[in-house]
Amino acid sequence: EDLTTEGNSFKGHDMLAPFTAGWQSNDLDPLVIEKSEGSYVYDINGKKYLDALAGLWCTSLGGNEPRLVAAATEQLNKLPFYHSFWNRTTKPSLDLAKELLETFTASKMAKAFFTNSGSEANDTQVKLVWYYNNALGRPNKKKFIARAKSYVDWYHGSTLIAASLSGLPALHQKFDLPAPFVRHTDCPHYWRYHLPGETEEEFSTRLAINLENLILKEGPETIAAFIAEPVMGAGGVIPPPATYFDKIQAVVKKYDILFIADEVICAFGRLGTMYGSDKFNIKPDLVTVAKALSSGYLPIGAVMVSPEVSDVIDSQSSKLGSFSHGFTYSGHPVACAVAIETLKIYKERNILDQVNRIAPKFQDGVKAFSDSHIIGEIRGTGLILGTEFVDNKSPNDPFPPEWGVGAYFGAQCEKEGMLVRVAGDNIMMSPPFIMSPEEVDELISKYGKALKATEDRVKE
Ligand code: PLP
Repeated sequence: EDLTTEGNSFKGHDMLAPFTAGWQSNDLDPLVIEKSEGSYVYDINGKKYLDALAGLWCTSLGGNEPRLVAAATEQLNKLPFYHSFWNRTTKPSLDLAKELLETFTASKMAKAFFTNSGSEANDTQVKLVWYYNNALGRPNKKKFIARAKSYVDWYHGSTLIAASLSGLPALHQKFDLPAPFVRHTDCPHYWRYHLPGETEEEFSTRLAINLENLILKEGPETIAAFIAEPVMGAGGVIPPPATYFDKIQAVVKKYDILFIADEVICAFGRLGTMYGSDKFNIKPDLVTVAKALSSGYLPIGAVMVSPEVSDVIDSQSSKLGSFSHGFTYSGHPVACAVAIETLKIYKERNILDQVNRIAPKFQDGVKAFSDSHIIGEIRGTGLILGTEFVDNKSPNDPFPPEWGVGAYFGAQCEKEGMLVRVAGDNIMMSPPFIMSPEEVDELISKYGKALKATEDRVKE
């Protein structure tokens, strides 16, 4: 047994720090990844792992896509950097904005702004919404509503405002978070939170009523926007229950509250549709993307804004820029060049067809383990799946944290040569879009072996 364990913490899977990137130090004996090839990554000792999380939900096209390397190299040779302040910019940034806006069809998006990450993009959304309401002469309409759950949670990023939007107690407790203008409403996790006998539709109705009551309590004139991921990613993979987004959207519309779709994980095909908004008939006013925008090859995020919102913001702005906000690397030309090529590849290779070809095998193959006595629920859609370990198949019977059940499973996957995401007793997978059917079989087989070992350990 080569697994190191200290309390509930297995090497690389510290369940008490599910969201930390960690100090960069050899003292911590990290798993060091050195190269990648398609759906696989290799560590510095040459061990090969199936990358069942696509890096961190992002390397949609897998490792070593030569066209992305060529796009980056060409742009580096031509213009490695210029900024996008004061109405100066670069062609890749302009071209990407145009291409990106065309990919979103669930509602109309008119303007794009680039960031380096999803966190920065969500912080940007908050400022944009404030600019919008200020321009409309209602500066007090500035609160945001996000969703929360009691342990591992809705994640919108780690910068202080994105962390506030995240319903994550671990990110809040030790600091003055959430920010005073953030409120949280129910987590739509049917399996965990439905009342006895309550159908999914009834559960969704109850959550929409709770949201409306929260809005009325706060005063609708103070609530600016509601933010949600179509399918929650980090923290457990939670697809919405039936009719949830229809009912939630009706409530926010009624009170003139903007809808921000955080598509950082769901966008570009992960759910088998171009965006999560397409899948659940969400018609957002603002959209956040990152990760698969560049297949993770270079850091880039973006916000997209509807014409209704951008027209109002622009009506108040000078010619030199719509709003006072920006990052040195906003619209970085090399990142934009890679993102343009990524979007081109998605289109040329019919990436949605590819995702939908392998998704049923992935979903059915892993969900076939649902009967395991240590699994409460396996949930997901397209190429995203969450597994939750509980005792007695009940959300009310978590395993003692010191058993580290999820961490043990993660460590077993690693031993088998597969990397997954562990957060407490939740396991998450989001494989690259380019996985072959044989690689999906391998994923299922490794999952099965890790599960068997974990079941045996829990029995002891
Ligand atoms: N929003 C969602 C839904 C995410 O999953 C993440 C990261 O995982 C973020 C925002 C933050 O993105 P980043 O890590 O690029 O700052």
